[in-house]
Amino acid sequence: MSTDSKLQAIRGMNDILPGEIAYWQYLENTARILFTEYGYQEIRVPIVEHTGLFKRSIGELTDIVEKEMYTFEDRSGDLLTLRPEITAGLVRAMISNGMLHNQRHKVWSAGPVFRHERPQKGRYRQFHQLDIEAFGYAGPDLDAELILMTARLWQRLGLKRLSLNINSLGTPQSRHAYREILRQYFIQHHDQLDEDSLRRLEGNPLRILDTKNPAMQELVANAPVLKDYLDTESAAHFKTLQYHLDAVGIPSVVNPRLVRGLDYYSRTVFEWITTELGAQGAVCAGGRYNGLVEQLGGESTPAMGWALGEERIIALMQAQDIQVAAAKPAVYVVLVGDRAEAAGFALTERLRDAMPGLSIETNCDGGSFKSQLKRADKSGARYAIVIGDSEVDQRIVGLKNLRAEEPQSQLSWDELAAALQYRFN
Ligand code: ATP
Ligand code: MG
Repeated sequence: MSTDSKLQAIRGMNDILPGEIAYWQYLENTARILFTEYGYQEIRVPIVEHTGLFKRSIGELTDIVEKEMYTFEDRSGDLLTLRPEITAGLVRAMISNGMLHNQRHKVWSAGPVFRHERPQKGRYRQFHQLDIEAFGYAGPDLDAELILMTARLWQRLGLKRLSLNINSLGTPQSRHAYREILRQYFIQHHDQLDEDSLRRLEGNPLRILDTKNPAMQELVANAPVLKDYLDTESAAHFKTLQYHLDAVGIPSVVNPRLVRGLDYYSRTVFEWITTELGAQGAVCAGGRYNGLVEQLGGESTPAMGWALGEERIIALMQAQDIQVAAAKPAVYVVLVGDRAEAAGFALTERLRDAMPGLSIETNCDGGSFKSQLKRADKSGARYAIVIGDSEVDQRIVGLKNLRAEEPQSQLSWDELAAALQYRFN
């Protein structure tokens, strides 16, 4: 810990405060409803897994495994890692719970992931993903379904101007031939390769296409493209996917440089990008990974999924001026005096019985009538229920509209629920 006495969060890890939580809840609720509408079920997996899982699934020669993982030894000497993405742990869970034998599953999950990157706008060390995966489906119709779910999510959230890039990586076999051709190309331009690319040249030259180094963009742009080496089945798979997307009216662009940062993809890969968030333009990415389950020791199972970055989606919602109202109480209960406090609490509990779902904030910690009314106003509530000792004696309350001109009404305790029902329906 630093010697600085001021408490600070870890760099690149953010607190999400009540003032901004409405966006998070809106995004997550919208996604949850949508996933359920398509028949996907939630699954929750641990945030920590054995380091070997990520090395084996994501691949040794990737940015994530080479330099971004939070890895530590626990007290039993096991080497563990905070998950840098959700897919690997989710696949592990499917295998270790025996869910892949002659079965199909459509699942989703959400939560924090961790990558030790250089923090900047849209790039954090703890960030949040919404993740969806389907197991046991080999055909391109599933690829289409997963992509059109993303399009519908943007539509539900009100997001505009996102573009969809798609590509096919073929099978590991067809990729093998391409890999060799690509390797030859980069060897010819050896002097233009940066340190990372030199390291990847032998092990996985496709990774070089994924480089973010601006100095290498031209070299990458002129590299041979995988499309010309695709096997016929992968080409047909890709064509059917495009056919489905066209039929549903989702425009897409084939981007031959799209290889994705992770090693386990096969056939379809896609990415949604925006130009409205500066350098961090990828908001959602996914693809098919038919080989991963087997690679991790499960039965060979076709699979595909995608993940979106919640921080970037929310930043885009804000950039596009999509308003999400913060939650505020409907009613604030002002209680002046000891007897009012006791009677008021009982009355409020009865109200909660009668009107589940209505947000009622009860004044706590006393205060004068005036100061409580100030708090009521600040809370954003539409109405204040006012109870003093004389109201207790008469078994009535005052109902005061805080947002509009309306004479304050006096209601008996028995009338109150009906009066609120009338105003809030
Ligand atoms: P990038 O190219 O921006 O590094 P990535 O290819 O590493 O993204 P994925 O592994 O595909 O990203 O993760 C899925 C999504 O998670 C991305 O599309 C992006 O929206 C989001 N994301 C990735 N890294 C970060 C990060 N460090 N901070 C915030 N969001 C991120
Ligand atoms: Mg990255």
